[in-house]
Amino acid sequence: MTYIGRFAPSPTGPLHAGSLVAAVASWLDARAHGGLWLVRMEDVDTARCSVEAGRHILRQLADLGLLSDREPLWQSTRGAAYQSAFETLAVTGFTYPCGCSRSDVAAAHALAGRVAQAHRPLPYPGTCRTGVEGCAPRAWRFACEKYQHSLTASLGSQSDTRPHIRANGVVYWTDRRLHQQSQNVAIDVGDFVLKRADGDWSYQLAVVVDDAAQGVTHVVRGADLADNTPRQWLLQNALGLPVPLYLHTPLVSRPDGDKLSKQHGAAAVETETSEQGLQALGRAGAVLGLPPTSGKVSMGQTLEQWVVAWKAIYNPAE
Ligand code: GLU
Repeated sequence: MTYIGRFAPSPTGPLHAGSLVAAVASWLDARAHGGLWLVRMEDVDTARCSVEAGRHILRQLADLGLLSDREPLWQSTRGAAYQSAFETLAVTGFTYPCGCSRSDVAAAHALAGRVAQAHRPLPYPGTCRTGVEGCAPRAWRFACEKYQHSLTASLGSQSDTRPHIRANGVVYWTDRRLHQQSQNVAIDVGDFVLKRADGDWSYQLAVVVDDAAQGVTHVVRGADLADNTPRQWLLQNALGLPVPLYLHTPLVSRPDGDKLSKQHGAAAVETETSEQGLQALGRAGAVLGLPPTSGKVSMGQTLEQWVVAWKAIYNPAE
């Protein structure tokens, strides 16, 4: 089987506990399949990402023995590819300009009596779908409600194992660890952003274009990204791109049980000495249910042993 996997960090700072789990998991899955493992720097968010942080992440990965099988791809060099995908979507009529600021969106919801829950942002209410009135367009959105309706000719059913949309407008897909997942993107997220008000391309568009351009067959990333998959499937479908298989890993928990993320100030992992590296690997391995590291076994040997353990846990049927 051809297998191409990837680790796609956003270089807003050094690797942290959560991103290291995604790095180790995606590397192990690629090795377990005898495939390629690519590193892609997702630096589309020009205000938050930097070349220095990206280089630092590459050094940290190298400290741990995790080396990209191809020259790392930097999304900041990929603007022409994103523009061309955007134009393809625009030609089919599934994009529209949006003049709403965050506070406009909040005001529209408040007017309708809708209140956001913690960790559950309210969907885009579709304000600019019928035209931008009285304000300058800021961003471009994907008309996912309209697109979902257009898929009536290719509706799937319960017996489909590949991602599909059913007559109820819900996208179903099967994660290798989380099993069947579903989301009605139009209801839960709304028409989402393709090009941001500041001119940067959105994560959703960039990730879909690059997974396809790099021939990625298997995506292994943190479970905090799982609910992006239906949006990405809609875009893959609209652009006629192949759909990878997905595995979303367990997340690192904080002592209070909340998920760890950079926004929560997750500490950078230290990888400079082999002792630090082994410790960092050990913590990532524990999250993934892999055997503990030992001071007597090198990082390289640990990773080799983990490839075997990985197969037993995550690919038992293969
Ligand atoms: N760049 C994203 C992040 O660091 C990950 C994207 C992905 O793996 O699809 O959260």
